[in-house]
Amino acid sequence: EPSAEKYEYQAEVSRLMDLIVHSLYSNKEVFLRELISNASDALDKLRYLSVTQSELLRDGVDLDIRIQTDKDNGIITLTDSGIGMTRQELVDCLGTIAQSGTAKFFKALKDSKESGADSNLIGQFGVGFYSAFLVSDKVVVSTKSPKSEKQYVWEGESNASSYTIREETDPNKLIPRGTRITLYLKRDDKDFSHPERIEKLIKNYSQFVSFPIYTWQEKGFTKEIEIDEPTEAKNDPEVDSSTERKKKTKKVVEKYWDWELINETQPIWLRNPKDVTTDDYNEFYKKTFNEYLDPLASSHFTTEGEVEFRSILFVPPVKNEDLLNKKTKNIRLYVKRVFISDDFDGELFPRYLSFVKGVVDSNDLPLNVSREILQESRIVRIMRKRLVRKAFDMILGISLSENKDDYDKFWDNFGKFLKLGCIEDHENHKRIAPLLRFFSSQSEDELISLEEYVESMKQEQKDIYYIAADSLTSAKNAPFLEKISQKDFEVLFLVDPMDELAIQNLKSYKEKNFVDISKEDLDLGDKDEEKEKEIKQEFIQTCDWIKKRLGDKVASVQISSRLSSSPCVLVSGKFGWSANMERLMKAQTL
Ligand code: ADP
Ligand code: MG
Repeated sequence: EPSAEKYEYQAEVSRLMDLIVHSLYSNKEVFLRELISNASDALDKLRYLSVTQSELLRDGVDLDIRIQTDKDNGIITLTDSGIGMTRQELVDCLGTIAQSGTAKFFKALKDSKESGADSNLIGQFGVGFYSAFLVSDKVVVSTKSPKSEKQYVWEGESNASSYTIREETDPNKLIPRGTRITLYLKRDDKDFSHPERIEKLIKNYSQFVSFPIYTWQEKGFTKEIEIDEPTEAKNDPEVDSSTERKKKTKKVVEKYWDWELINETQPIWLRNPKDVTTDDYNEFYKKTFNEYLDPLASSHFTTEGEVEFRSILFVPPVKNEDLLNKKTKNIRLYVKRVFISDDFDGELFPRYLSFVKGVVDSNDLPLNVSREILQESRIVRIMRKRLVRKAFDMILGISLSENKDDYDKFWDNFGKFLKLGCIEDHENHKRIAPLLRFFSSQSEDELISLEEYVESMKQEQKDIYYIAADSLTSAKNAPFLEKISQKDFEVLFLVDPMDELAIQNLKSYKEKNFVDISKEDLDLGDKDEEKEKEIKQEFIQTCDWIKKRLGDKVASVQISSRLSSSPCVLVSGKFGWSANMERLMKAQTL
């Protein structure tokens, strides 16, 4: 028999295990969620690969998860028929922490230490495989990958700095493929091996796992049997004495063991939206994306006709820091209910909507779909268009909600992305514009929408006025405002660096042009050309003199009617950059 080989954990792993045990002791039951989620991932991987390599399913074993408990000995066995692991994968996956869920946990733990956040929150994170040691003295992972001829056994104990790997030699323990994890529970945690306890936990944690989860359960059915004793049982209510032939029968419970299906496997997006509650969507969101806060909004829809797909989209309540480095994994793509990838966000959504999370299940794409196929597919172009529209409808929904806080929250987190949309997606300007918010000369510290601006425009006012500045204070004190404020026209204060770019790309809203009040030739609709000509004539020499003194520092010196108390103002040329843009450009080239 080949002997077990001993390996040391990567240093971080030991630290992580320590942290898990110390921060999650009151939340121990998350171990089951983590192991089931790994099993489900492994099944997803196998199902995906089998699309192109059908021989992977040749053994005829169903894709499922089976959990057995031995309450007398405090043992839980969890078996999946997924992708399994090779010997090398055992070392890479269970001896190091390059993995997503665990890395996220690490970070959350650090953040919560810094901000003093409730450590209970941590229980909501994906903490991964090592959470098995929350409840176990010993964990044994026996696994068979289709890439390997042999089945290997990983064995680790809590509080140890090393683990072992050996070949599985016991013929009774061989599995055709997948992974069997055996937990030897700690003395105080043996309760978890009670079948009822496990069943409750599965129901609670794994209702959205799309593979069947079975538990091995003792069952019983009642049957009638004939009995021989003829008389004395007359007063026994269990005895049926109505038979004519004086033959006695008795009802008995026959005991046997069998697998019992615990979860509902129909994916939530296939259900009728009428039958799904907000709570269901929230739970689905949190479980699927490993989040701990409810989403701000969700949208569940089906499209039929030319292209058929189902989707549930979500707006997260907070911004994910990974958003800008593109590795968002925000859209899970399924084809005919087979999970394909969570790496295609960029093909299904424009970059500026990359904060939207969700699932998309298409019946029209091929199962072996790749990025290249997605990029060229006409079907995907149509899907993308519809998804984007639905996303905007969903965001508009938040803005119309009675709870004003929601949109404030949304804008705070994702406003910048919509401004980016103004620059990158001219086709959707009509959808983006109503969602934008700005400060204005009349709104104090509140943000207003363009709709609110237009509604309170004065009758003689033709354009939407704005001024870009680096702060609200400097916007409020800009000399350009003088004349305009006298007329009581409202002016948008563009104080975010991206505001001005967004507005310039939009050009107009409801056929009203955006006009920068810091540009020359500002027309407030009250020009008296005769009088202006006269004054210009009168001051022509003064202007020339000033221009000579300033030289190249200014492009020209002109008489203007736009000021009421300041003697002069520096303005930008009509086609030049505004002062604010100039600042932005400088900042970018430095
Ligand atoms: P994560 O699931 O976030 O990657 P885990 O600590 O839960 O992190 O798991 C680490 C890795 O171990 C997984 O990414 C996977 O490669 C492997 N693994 C864990 N459980 C299984 C399993 N049941 N079948 C196959 N691979 C598994
Ligand atoms: Mg995991």
